[in-house]
Amino acid sequence: RASRDSHDSSTTRKDHTPVHGLSEMIVGVLGGGQLGRMLCQAASQMAIKVMVLDPLENCPASALSYHHMVGSFDDSATVEEFAKRCGVLTVEIEHVDVATLHKLEQQGVDCQPKASTIRIIQDKFLQKVHFSQHGIPLPEFMQIDDLEGAKRAACQFGYPLMIKSKRLAYDGRGNAVAKSEEELSSAINVTLTCHVMEDSVWFDQKYNGHLVGTLGGFDRGLYVEKWAPFVKELAVIVARGRDNSILCYPVVETIHKENICHIVKSPAVVPLEIKKVANDVAYRAVSSLEGAGVFAVELFLTNDGQILLNEVAPRVHNSGHHTIEACYTSQFEQHLRAVVGLPLGDPSMKCPAAIMYNLLGEDEGEPGFRLAHQLIERALGTPGASVHWYDKPEMRKQRKMGHITLVGPSIGTLEARLNSMLKENSCGCP
Ligand code: ATP
Ligand code: MG
Ligand code: MG
Repeated sequence: RASRDSHDSSTTRKDHTPVHGLSEMIVGVLGGGQLGRMLCQAASQMAIKVMVLDPLENCPASALSYHHMVGSFDDSATVEEFAKRCGVLTVEIEHVDVATLHKLEQQGVDCQPKASTIRIIQDKFLQKVHFSQHGIPLPEFMQIDDLEGAKRAACQFGYPLMIKSKRLAYDGRGNAVAKSEEELSSAINVTLTCHVMEDSVWFDQKYNGHLVGTLGGFDRGLYVEKWAPFVKELAVIVARGRDNSILCYPVVETIHKENICHIVKSPAVVPLEIKKVANDVAYRAVSSLEGAGVFAVELFLTNDGQILLNEVAPRVHNSGHHTIEACYTSQFEQHLRAVVGLPLGDPSMKCPAAIMYNLLGEDEGEPGFRLAHQLIERALGTPGASVHWYDKPEMRKQRKMGHITLVGPSIGTLEARLNSMLKENSCGCP
């Protein structure tokens, strides 16, 4: 599928293809996972051409893209070659070769969002420094260079203490919690030795067997955060157009299980005042970054009613998957509109409530597929449910394989429908 080279007409296509879509710009996406796939789905409705760059031949976006270039989005020459074929360059993952993006921008390549944004976001510590300089409320944080530094931070912040890898983290890989001084060194070791990005072939190729660092000399790769005593996690998808107009989607609640997004409820069931503060923080956070596109702002609601920023993703995000069925403009359509310079669409909900449930791998291989399909079968018989399957070539435990979105009259009704769908599941989901 990857080498459907009837489309691979290199630089000439841009000039010779008659334009019939809503934009003549070919959108190049670094990364071809499920986010890239859903961007392609939205693009097809508008007849916008999306090219993806991903090292995996049968990556989820491959079959649906206008063209899939097989290659690494962390390799300078490959990214440059890819960029030549696109009208605008965007990302579905922030762990890309940002130095090349900067270089390409200087040569006039249109990157949305800007390389400066990707640079800030891809280093979580730099991200925290940036947002604190812009007056965004966050958990206190501090760089640590060794175990002694971690002990000093713990004196200031107390326990539990959150230790995080600055780079290449996702789905909680790269985070560890120390509940006491005795646990500090093992928690540091976990963050240093965990194979972050293990879901990605790119990571496997580049970092296989290579550890982020070793205890004792961890190369300024870690920092710590004060524990955020949150009662709920919230998220806001924010879109910025090329004209700098900004629109926020309704605030959602995200529920994580073992650090992985598990369930998203829209709208979040929190007081209006909290929603206003969440929106304001998200709006200000995105305003401080450069470039067009969709951004996801992850937030903590603390037990004393504060909103703190956790992190921002400079791209479409798991907390916005429900927007496909639940909003007038999905986050994927919105991102494409934003990067090609079309007017932004209405982000509001067209139904009272939505719940998104992630289909995470329960088991490796065939047994995992069987369990997922049992659940999908029940979802297909559930009112208001839509099933998304990402067509990943391999089933692995905890891997995001698909998702189910339920839409309906209220969050309460949808919770009941989700519970009855899951209860019958022989895999013993909650
Ligand atoms: P993602 O897949 O969202 O990119 P990630 O690997 O970047 O995840 P974080 O978002 O930093 O990880 O953290 C994952 C989860 O860990 C959060 O959603 C939250 O549940 C918890 N968490 C992170 N930081 C803190 C903190 N300072 N205090 C309490 N809990 C935290
Ligand atoms: Mg993250
Ligand atoms: Mg996160």
